[in-house]
Parts: sequence; structure tokens; C-alpha cells
Amino acid sequence: MTQTLLSIDPLTGEQVGSVAISDRDSISEKVAKAREAQIGWSNQSIQQRVQALQQAYKTLQPLQSNLAQLISREMGKDARRANYEAGGAIQGGIWLAEDAGKALRERRNGGSEIQYRPLGVVAVISPWNYPLAMANNLLVPALVAGNSVILKPSEESPLVADLLVKTLNETLPEGILQIAHGDRHTGEALVQSDINMIAFTGSRATGQKIMANAAPALKRLVMELGGNDPMIVLASADIQKAAQFAVASSFENAGQMCTSTERIYVDANIADQFEKAVTSIARQYHTGGWQDPQADIGPLVNQRQHQKVVDHIQDALKKGATLLLGEKAPKPPFIPPTVISGMQPGMQLEDEETFGPVVAIDRFTNVEDAIQRANDSVYGLGAVVFGGADAVQVGNRLQAGMIGINQGAGGTPWVGAKQSGFGYHGGADGHRQFAQLTVINL
Ligand code: NAD
Repeated sequence: MTQTLLSIDPLTGEQVGSVAISDRDSISEKVAKAREAQIGWSNQSIQQRVQALQQAYKTLQPLQSNLAQLISREMGKDARRANYEAGGAIQGGIWLAEDAGKALRERRNGGSEIQYRPLGVVAVISPWNYPLAMANNLLVPALVAGNSVILKPSEESPLVADLLVKTLNETLPEGILQIAHGDRHTGEALVQSDINMIAFTGSRATGQKIMANAAPALKRLVMELGGNDPMIVLASADIQKAAQFAVASSFENAGQMCTSTERIYVDANIADQFEKAVTSIARQYHTGGWQDPQADIGPLVNQRQHQKVVDHIQDALKKGATLLLGEKAPKPPFIPPTVISGMQPGMQLEDEETFGPVVAIDRFTNVEDAIQRANDSVYGLGAVVFGGADAVQVGNRLQAGMIGINQGAGGTPWVGAKQSGFGYHGGADGHRQFAQLTVINL
């Protein structure tokens, strides 16, 4: 009997809708269909595939507000940000198709021809925090490369992915883009099925399981995993600008962003002023539902995630940190704007990815200590330094895939270092991951 997955609104607890869960048998059927469809798709020219995708993404344009509303209702993002994500995903799909088309054309290298041949069937497994963007970034180049794709969206946001795929499929050839719904069991069955590549965005813990399951057949992997991004604020920094960034980056998407600022190390000479500025800016943020125009911080995606953030706050306070703003035991679904000083190694707030609207600060007297603590993490996604001319030298010593000097980290390609993953979102490096590079000596 087909099982059903319910999509639940984190704000109200109401059911937004439901989808059928894909079990192992249905995944096998999808993979067989994908493999057959891939033959015809890969026989089209790259320009034909780019055009087909661009045409398909254009059909999403009248549905932008429907997509945005589903993002808000399934994972709590406010209406403005959800609309931005939906619009960006549509425009991004059109642009990504073009960009991937350029990167994947065959080219000459001396006496050789370099070809980018399709791999076959690609599984794209995505998270809920940017449910459209994270799916899109990987499925578009995978398709342009001539592969077929099976998307496994997060169980927290199945409906928005379902609308995306159904709409694209009104114009794309049948079978090249399919969707498999469900939780980790569906994901695991997909990874173990007869596919050629897994492009995954999600947590480090899940990445480890996927790698283990991909090992027997040495399936290709792209891993975009979690982060615990540090920010170093030097004595030479513009304190107000640094404080504004610290709050905005810690609270973006209710802190549920892979490159949100998770730990801040500030020079002791300016720490009092910095903490005061941060607290006063953070006080202006408000929690609220997606339709509330005053709200900057939405609900956490589910009770488990809410509890994790509460645990991290309480662990820090128990171990001697100070709550400058916020509540010791906030009730679901919200975490009010929270500022904590006196963060230390050994606290979950410093050692783990919190993924909540918390500004966590400690002060340093020697910049070497700040660099060492910033780098003392299994993660290496983004890192940020605020300061004068000395900021660049500090930035150059940080172990991260993306580094921002007096601004946020992140760009094209999007890339993590250390256990934040391997592989890229976007750029020629990113697009070419979805192809078998083949060298022909002519
Ligand atoms: P998650 O790892 O719990 O789930 C991600 C996806 O993997 C979901 O679709 C889930 O159903 C699936 N899954 C779970 N177990 C699986 C298994 N054993 N085999 C196959 N699939 C499985 O992550 P999440 O909670 O959805 O997302 C939050 C995490 O994603 C955070 O760590 C965040 O930092 C990270 N993230 C990283 C980036 C990046 O670009 N590096 C971007 C967005 C989110």
C-alpha cells in the first residue's frame, strides 16, 4: 500500500498537503524509466537541451507566488524572502541552463578534444532551508549535461518541489526529470539504486551515510554539507557595520542558513562596544509568521530543530556564558532574537552547527587565538573577517571554501572546505561535475 507523507506548517501545525512516498520498488521503476529517457535526451544537442530547459523554466513564471507561498507554508520563510527565492529560482533556472550549456560544450586542448559526456542517472537530494534554490542549482546543470534526474526533496518541503517538477514536466520530455518523495528511507533506497551519481545538499551526518552507501559501486558524489561559520572582528573594524552584519547573518532565515554566522570572535579592545551595538540591533528584530510584514525571524522548521537550538542556548548558559538578549527556554515554534557572550570551546554553540537565530560571541586578546579557534572545526564552509587593511591577511589564513572580507562569504562557485563537503554549486567547475570528462587525442 502506498504510504503518504504529510507536509506540516511549522507556524500552525496544520497540514498543508500530502504526497505519496516512493518505496524501493517505485524507485527501481523510476530509475529504469530515467535510464530509458536519458538515451533520447542525451542524443539531443546541448543547445536543444538548454532551450528545452529555458522554455520549461519560463512556464514557472506565472506560478511564482504559488511557489513562494508553498515555501512559506512548508518551512516558515517570510513572504518577502520566499518570493525572492521563488523568483530567483525561476530566473536562476533560465540563467543556469545557459551558463551550464557554455561550460559543457566540447573544447580543444592542444592536440586533444575534451568532451563532457553525460553520466546517466543523477539523484539530486536536497534540504528544506532553501527548498527551491538548492534543488535547482544541481538539477539544471545535471540535465543540461545530458543526464536524467531523480529529485528527492526534503520531507519538510515536498509540495514546493512537487509543483516545480510537475510544471517543468509539462514541457520537458517524459522521464528525464522525476521526483521521489519520502524521508531518509527513500533517500537511502535512491542512493543504493542503480544510479550513477548523487548530488547532495544537507547535513554532514547524512553526507557520511550517503558516502558509505555510494561506496560499493563508487558512485560519483557532490557533497554540499553543513557549516559552523566563524566571524573575526578586528580592532580596526567599523564596529557598527560589523555588528549589523553579525546580526543579519546570524538571524537570516531564522539562522537556518548553511553560511549563517555561527561564532564570533571580537578583539577585546572593542568587545564591549561591539556587544552593545549587536544587542541594540538584534532587539529590533521580531519573530512572526510569514504573513506578518513586521516579522524578520520566522518559526523554526520543526520541533526537533527548535529543541536543538534551545539545547545549545541552555548548554552555553550552564557552562558560564551570558545571555545578553533572548530567553532561556523559548517555546516553539519561535526562538526570539538571542545574543550570547562568553561562548567557549566545549559548548555546543561553539563546537556544533546551531542553525538558529543566535549571535554567539567571545573576545580575544591575541588574534592568533582567534584564527586558531576559527579554524578549530571539522567544518570549513564560509568565514568572515571585519577589519581594516589587516583583515585580508587574517582572511587568507582561514580554512574555508568561501571567505568574506567586510562582507558575507559565498559566490560562484559555492564551495565548502574540510567536512563541509566537496564539489560545487554553480560555475564551470560546478556544471562539469555532472559529466564524464573524456579526452580524445586527434
Ligand atoms: P538532512 O541531511 O537532514 O537532509 C537532507 C536531505 O537528505 C533530505 O532530503 C533528507 O530526507 C535526505 N536524507 C536523510 N537521510 C538520508 C540518507 N541516509 N540517505 C539519503 N538521503 C537522506 O539536512 P536538512 O536538515 O534537510 O538540511 C540542513 C543541513 O543542510 C544543514 O547542515 C545545512 O548547513 C546544510 N546545507 C548546506 C548547504 C551548502 O550549500 N553547503 C546548503 C543548504 C543546507
